[in-house]
Amino acid sequence: MRYDLAITGSGGAAFAAAITARDAGASVVMIERGTVGGTCVNTGCVPSKALLAGAAARHGAAGQRFPGIATQAGPVDMAALTGGKDDLVAAMRAGKYTGLAADYGWEILAGTARFAGGPDAPALQVRLNDGGTATIEAGHYMVAAGAAPWIPPVSGLAGAGYLTSATAMELTELPESMLVIGGNAVGLELAQLFARLGTRVTIAEALDRLAPFDEPEVSAAIEDVFEGEGIGILTAATVMSVRADATARSVTVKTAGGPERELACGQILVAAGRRPVTTGLNLDAAGVKTGGRGEILTDEYQRTANPWIWAAGDVTGGPQFVYVAAAQGSRAAANALQNAGRTVDYAALPRVTFTSPAIASAGLTETELLGTGVPCDCRVLPLAAVPRAVVGRDTRGVVKLVAEARGGRVRGVHAVGDGAGEMITAASYAIRAGMTVTDLAEAWAPYLTMSESLRLVAQAFTRDVSRLSCCAA
Ligand SMILES: Cc1cc2nc3c(=O)[nH]c(=O)nc-3n(C[C@H](O)[C@H](O)[C@H](O)COP(=O)(O)OP(=O)(O)OC[C@H]3O[C@@H](n4cnc5c(N)ncnc54)[C@H](O)[C@@H]3O)c2cc1C
Repeated sequence: MRYDLAITGSGGAAFAAAITARDAGASVVMIERGTVGGTCVNTGCVPSKALLAGAAARHGAAGQRFPGIATQAGPVDMAALTGGKDDLVAAMRAGKYTGLAADYGWEILAGTARFAGGPDAPALQVRLNDGGTATIEAGHYMVAAGAAPWIPPVSGLAGAGYLTSATAMELTELPESMLVIGGNAVGLELAQLFARLGTRVTIAEALDRLAPFDEPEVSAAIEDVFEGEGIGILTAATVMSVRADATARSVTVKTAGGPERELACGQILVAAGRRPVTTGLNLDAAGVKTGGRGEILTDEYQRTANPWIWAAGDVTGGPQFVYVAAAQGSRAAANALQNAGRTVDYAALPRVTFTSPAIASAGLTETELLGTGVPCDCRVLPLAAVPRAVVGRDTRGVVKLVAEARGGRVRGVHAVGDGAGEMITAASYAIRAGMTVTDLAEAWAPYLTMSESLRLVAQAFTRDVSRLSCCAA
């Protein structure tokens, strides 16, 4: 069969590409070996945020934040929580993925694709899930095969058994204790999820702070939050080995400068990063080049080393967010089919880690801006200076603004805070629009919103904002 575009994978990158291609009148086929919809809807964004919302409700009920309001949290029925999440995922998969393919009119083949034919005449060989094979020929090909958890080579880990984010979210019984290996976005979200449901959680992060790629002030704030919620934190920690017996797992962890220590835990969750899925695609034979982590190398138009083959999403080794995957996918399809010459602008890319309070950032960190040779000026505002946080009785967190020292152009905003994930879109717009610190300090911000923290941190460049009230213009 011959199509205009043949896509390997059915996640966010693949769907965005297919929609763009169908809008342009092209014929499309998609090949998916697992569950239609890929990571985000099935095992990533949607289930994790659904479970985190439940855990946050329990956490809120267990605490006594407001005088005069008595609440309490009972035990968790993990099977019911997981079942409810599964129903939600199924509904969103039907509404946002499988239904769309039918509406737009493209075929999804259930099977595993690999390239056949040489670089000049590529084709896809598909091993169909229900037996047999199919050969797909197309004018253009797009690889949107995603990423999968990277499992560190720790002695005894495979034999002892471990969870990944996907399998952890399928548990129907709450573990009594859990070691989370990895203290970046996925590890932080799942550590807090299980801790808030009642599991005793310890995080082991190899680098010297949690959220190690964020601003140091952000790491310090989230470490305070986690410590305050009773989550154990081991940083600069290497997991050396794992032993398991019938009832428990014992993990040997070494921290920098410290002795080796033994941790007993019911479950181990590996959240040490995700690597592109390129093994088995026969990319070499198709003339597609990959980098050191298996990522497909593309130019800024998402074109691989083979001019007929394009790649988008996590498989390219870029920022692992579904909206990045979708932006790359739609650009790739437009470039392939319409020679559109479209690229993705990452300058104001917003990122959210859905802990609560959330970690949110857009643009460059202080170190990144200095690395470009531009002198930098920064301010850090504790949330105790933000009225929204004060009245909500949750002042955990900070907002940091990174600006160019000359002219005050805003280049980055980084925050930990309840509502930071909502505020960061405004920060992203400000960066994209080239706004200065003065522009932000003078911009409207509704009183008693978290977005007001942007205006306040901008005002901190010229005043002591801890003494300002809503009336300071
Ligand atoms: C726990 C977790 C939480 C997350 N939360 C968020 C969030 O809140 N917000 C956010 O923006 N991002 C989040 N992400 C990241 C986001 O899910 C990914 O960046 C995004 O889904 C990547 O989309 P993709 O299209 O590149 O790949 P995927 O969605 O992974 O799709 C790739 C598909 O290709 C298929 N495939 C692979 N090889 C083959 C083959 N040879 N033949 C056929 N099919 C193949 C796979 O089965 C898979 O379905 C989260 C990720 C995780 C793990």
